[in-house]
Amino acid sequence: MQRNLILLGAPGAGKGTQAQRLAARFGIPQISTGDMLRAARREGTPLGKKAESFMNAGQLVPDEVVVGLVEERLGKDDAKLGFILDGFPRTIPQAQALDTVLKKLGRDPLRVIDVQVPEATLLERLGGRLSCPKCGATYHVRLNPPKQAGICDACGGALVTRADDQPEAISQRLREYHDKTAPLVDYYRKAGLERAVDGVGDLEVVLGRIIEALASGA
Ligand code: ADP
Ligand code: AMP
Repeated sequence: MQRNLILLGAPGAGKGTQAQRLAARFGIPQISTGDMLRAARREGTPLGKKAESFMNAGQLVPDEVVVGLVEERLGKDDAKLGFILDGFPRTIPQAQALDTVLKKLGRDPLRVIDVQVPEATLLERLGGRLSCPKCGATYHVRLNPPKQAGICDACGGALVTRADDQPEAISQRLREYHDKTAPLVDYYRKAGLERAVDGVGDLEVVLGRIIEALASGA
């Protein structure tokens, strides 16, 4: 059985945190467009250069850039038994493009988990997030600190604060989410694919809620 999952939710909802855990549990890849774009930016590829100014300002990168990335990634062998999309789709045209790609690849239907977290909690989480550029793991200075300050538990990489985890870019990202991404909840609800999960609580408790929602036929 394929597990073709999407984690929806605002910036800071915990998509990346939970996608990493679900990927390990189910043995399927986490596909984070944010991580892919940050890698392209770091490597200075033409795509990375194109995306950089949008990302730093907290704006969405144009649809055609991310759709191309995801289409290529989903065609790889390790995604044949399933995948966890984290941070994609973020607009209705991206969701429509994904439907077309999955049809072309002959994949099973999607299951969509909407991780719900109130704005005050999102701000608290984004304000203290630490990220590992090497393996994509995320931590929080108070809520989920690494064992050794500044060092990734998983791979030993040096943790950084993302350029877009600054107050101005955070506000812009939340605006983009409300304007362009939140309508996807309705898009997938109308298709009967969406399940809401409360994203507030201990990391493992939230993980348990997601697994339960999936088991109950989201
Ligand atoms: P997203 O990928 O949705 O933007 P992240 O997974 O990066 O969100 O999480 C944002 C921040 O919140 C990180 O610092 C992470 O460690 C922290 N975080 C995630 N889930 C929880 C949780 N259930 N409780 C407390 N902190 C959390
Ligand atoms: P994230 O790591 O998911 O928080 O994404 C960080 C930034 O990368 C976003 O603020 C956007 O600039 C860009 N980005 C990531 N995924 C997408 C997407 N699906 N569509 C457009 N821009 C994206």
